[in-house]
Amino acid sequence: MLIIGSHVNFSNSDQLLGALNQALSYDANTFMFYTGAPQNTLRSKIDDGTTSKALEKMKENNIDISNVIVHAPYIINLANNKEESKYDFSINFLKQEIKRCEQIGIKYLVLHPGSHVGLGVDEGISNIIFALNKVNESNSSVVILLETMAGKGSEVGTNFDEIKRIIDGVKDKTKIGVCLDTCHLNDAGYDISEFDKVLDEFDKKIGLSYVHCVHINDSKNIRGAHKDRHENLGYGTIGFDNLINVIYNDRLDNIPKILETPWIGEYPPYKEEIEMIRTKTFNGNLK
Ligand code: FE
Ligand code: FE
Ligand code: ZN
Repeated sequence: MLIIGSHVNFSNSDQLLGALNQALSYDANTFMFYTGAPQNTLRSKIDDGTTSKALEKMKENNIDISNVIVHAPYIINLANNKEESKYDFSINFLKQEIKRCEQIGIKYLVLHPGSHVGLGVDEGISNIIFALNKVNESNSSVVILLETMAGKGSEVGTNFDEIKRIIDGVKDKTKIGVCLDTCHLNDAGYDISEFDKVLDEFDKKIGLSYVHCVHINDSKNIRGAHKDRHENLGYGTIGFDNLINVIYNDRLDNIPKILETPWIGEYPPYKEEIEMIRTKTFNGNLK
């Protein structure tokens, strides 16, 4: 089954219900949100009344909460421990974010592995592993999905070997998974036009059973550019047909696909892009 949605807003006032209503307006059957602004850690209390109203409405619309994804804020950086206070802050914030996910009933939390900021990949990876094991000490049912990164700056997790090394170090394998991002894969050097080969490599090194989310984005930059600038479907270097092949790949069936494509002026493009995906037809009038 095609499980498709986009990034939506989670506002203080209507929280999960507001997020759901946006998703429904896009004809989506899942969605992803930050529990507050992605670039800061100000978070308001989760309102259980609003959550239960949303869960009821989700049931009516056949949306399964276990397909709904939360994205952790960018400022969590588990790879760099140069400043102990910042590193501890990241770990503690991630713990709180997991609690918020649990309170809502979210199963999957997407996390950028982090940037080593000069420490080197090896130290970055061991910092991430230490932090994840620390976070996993508090028994929760939430699974952290490491996102494959574009390789901007000193990002860790830009290839399957690095992701594998992190997973190998995480003690509880039921708490860890992967989120593939098509723009990031492209920018990291993977060839999305040969996506089955990409999946073969992933399966050999890590195992496809670890994939629980796919971010669907075109890219503004050429393969291997290490840039990370998302583009609307069919308007970038990956191209519409290649993205359709990712979305409808049998090996990723039933795994939530989430659009993080840029807004067009003042407007989110998600209704139109989801329609393009459902009809497998490119819309050249989007911008
Ligand atoms: Fe991300
Ligand atoms: Fe992403
Ligand atoms: Zn990105």
